[in-house]
Amino acid sequence: MNEIQHWIDNQVVASASGRTAPVYNPALGEQSGVVALASVDEVDAAVASAKAAAPMWRATSLSKRAEVLFRMRELVDANRKEIATLLTAEHGKVLSDSMGEVARGLENIEFACGVPHLLKGGFSEQAATGVDVYSIRQPLGVVAGITPFNFPAMVPMWMFANALACGNTFVLKPSEKDPSVTMFVAELLSQAGLPAGCFNVVQGDKVAVDRLLEHDDIAAVSFVGSTPIAKYIYETGTRNGKRVQALGGAKNHMLVLADADLDMAADAAIGAAYGSAGERCMAISVVLAADAIADDLVAKIADRIPEVKVGNGMEPDSEMGPLITAESKQRVEGYIEGAPGEGATVVVDGRTDEHGDGYFVNPTLLDNVAPGMKCYDDEIFGPVLSVSRVNGYEDGVATINASPFANGTAIFTRDGGAARQFQFDIEVGMVGINVPIPVPVSYYSFGGWKGSLFGDTHMYGPEGINFYTRGKVVTSRWPDPATSTVDLGFPETR
Ligand code: NAD
Repeated sequence: MNEIQHWIDNQVVASASGRTAPVYNPALGEQSGVVALASVDEVDAAVASAKAAAPMWRATSLSKRAEVLFRMRELVDANRKEIATLLTAEHGKVLSDSMGEVARGLENIEFACGVPHLLKGGFSEQAATGVDVYSIRQPLGVVAGITPFNFPAMVPMWMFANALACGNTFVLKPSEKDPSVTMFVAELLSQAGLPAGCFNVVQGDKVAVDRLLEHDDIAAVSFVGSTPIAKYIYETGTRNGKRVQALGGAKNHMLVLADADLDMAADAAIGAAYGSAGERCMAISVVLAADAIADDLVAKIADRIPEVKVGNGMEPDSEMGPLITAESKQRVEGYIEGAPGEGATVVVDGRTDEHGDGYFVNPTLLDNVAPGMKCYDDEIFGPVLSVSRVNGYEDGVATINASPFANGTAIFTRDGGAARQFQFDIEVGMVGINVPIPVPVSYYSFGGWKGSLFGDTHMYGPEGINFYTRGKVVTSRWPDPATSTVDLGFPETR
């Protein structure tokens, strides 16, 4: 059985906490490994290692830091398949999707390779007579990342690439459900020449998270996960004086107007709802269909569902894999079970035992879903697509803006004016126009609004660079000693 331990000082460190959690192969419904759950002392050891490395890494030149990141870029590129295979084995998503995850994570390492350019400050010559003023951005020190199960490779890359590029050292607490990928990535960082202590991994649960949130030597915390935990992380971390960005859950709507190309909208809905078995924070979980086309659209989506190939993600022709755990399967099936009692129509019921012991739910389609029903209000995080009918544009926008979540959304229309108005009106952080999963490229930043983000800073891209640095402004004067005088007045720019 695979034993997954900590990574401290560029080596595997066996846990002595005596606490572990099982890791599963969700496609087979079998335990495949056991992951250590760190004690407070083990978290302290990881933080101490990162703290010891911080002065050296901060003093390492921008070009040397970039060199390490360029080498990491090459290593991840060369090991895409290996990372994707580890990911599929523990997460369950199909191999092609895992390859996509690695590619989107890699973009963030590529962005961070530009760190010398990204950290250029401003300079004002002769701000006052003989006085120059310039701004610089400096690292925070030791920063922590706490990540969810659904993107075990990409989400850590959203964080550590920019954090390390900016001169911080990093302690990662990955999800305990699929922890192997991060150990492999840690090994690659060490091969890339990252000095010991700059990147440490502590495996664990709430004990490890709580220790990171209260540790005096942690300057900032990046979190991605569900909304209740994101809120907890933000409140606890900021109360302890840390800078925190905490990205939460989602319930993403796709508004389909009456003039949309319905085949294109149906294709997009299938991919965005059932890809990765709906376990994406940017998955479409509600289609808001304009009344005039709703029956046609539901029929087109229902027609496509039997074509989705559900199976073990390791099989090359599988398009959708299982859910992460037996509990997830049970939870998702509960929403399908409860939907008719709330007034929804089950058009396609994905509850199945055709995949042996694996944690599979097949693509499911609910119609006549409305706010107030559990299947509408909750983040189901499974392959369940709900259709809600709306009168038209205004009704659709009002419905989306009333949601407590605001991660991503999309509009499908042929009307450029309506699309432009949607971009203006909608209260959501990431917007797609005929694009169902609008995950920003790495040189923009990722993040939602409302209950999908706690904190002010979005993740990665320019906002990531700001999050992992703090500004300093230097006012400098090299005067002619002959002009020196005593002056008790407040400095004026003349
Ligand atoms: P989760 O909130 O259960 O866990 C996330 C992390 O928090 C894990 O590392 C976990 O060990 C830790 N954690 C869990 N319970 C904790 C507790 N009580 N105290 C302290 N730490 C705790 O999320 P998950 O199930 O791993 O991931 C799925 C969720 O993440 C979904 O809600 C999804 O929408 C969200 N997500 C959001 C984004 C985004 O960018 N907004 C991206 C990916 C996933």
